[in-house]
Amino acid sequence: TDQTIQDELIGAIRTIKDYPTDGILFRDITTLLGNARAFRRAVDALVQPWAGSKVEQVAGIEARGFILGGAVAHQLSAGFVPIRKKGKLPHETVRIAYSLEYGLDEMEMHKDAISAGDRVIVVDDLIATGGTAEAACKLLRSMGANIEAACFIVDLPDLGGRKKLEAMNVPVRTLVEFP
Ligand code: AMP
Repeated sequence: TDQTIQDELIGAIRTIKDYPTDGILFRDITTLLGNARAFRRAVDALVQPWAGSKVEQVAGIEARGFILGGAVAHQLSAGFVPIRKKGKLPHETVRIAYSLEYGLDEMEMHKDAISAGDRVIVVDDLIATGGTAEAACKLLRSMGANIEAACFIVDLPDLGGRKKLEAMNVPVRTLVEFP
């Protein structure tokens, strides 16, 4: 991504110290979403490699991945698939457990949301350890998705998420990094 766009995006992201717990620098993208120009630039930059190519579905990870994923899906004329915390989707689901910093959680998607062979892009705001996105990719692959890439505005490269996804043959696209 172009340096001036990177600078603009970094400048539009707010950092909150010690949220949600001590020692965490929380990268708050709500300020980027509220900045009309930065929001458009971020979405345009994320979708750029797939302009003019066919993507059937964009899978967004609850909750900030819904906001970005909806915009990405619209831009690519693709469908949108929500990947949610357990218990929120009304129809039959497939579910996967994954580990968080403290303990386990589960995410799920509708069984009929993906057709085998669909080209899918996974979207979230930020990749840290990659555990969340890895679980989402496994869930999608279990339903026959062809994952084109996982896209994030922010990469925290020291936490190794990109490597985790690349090790499972998921290409990763990110726009800015925070050390
Ligand atoms: P991970 O599974 O470790 O890659 O964590 C990624 C998920 O946690 C994403 O949904 C992020 O929104 C959230 N997250 C993790 N670390 C941060 C952080 N420092 N600032 C903002 N969000 C974060």
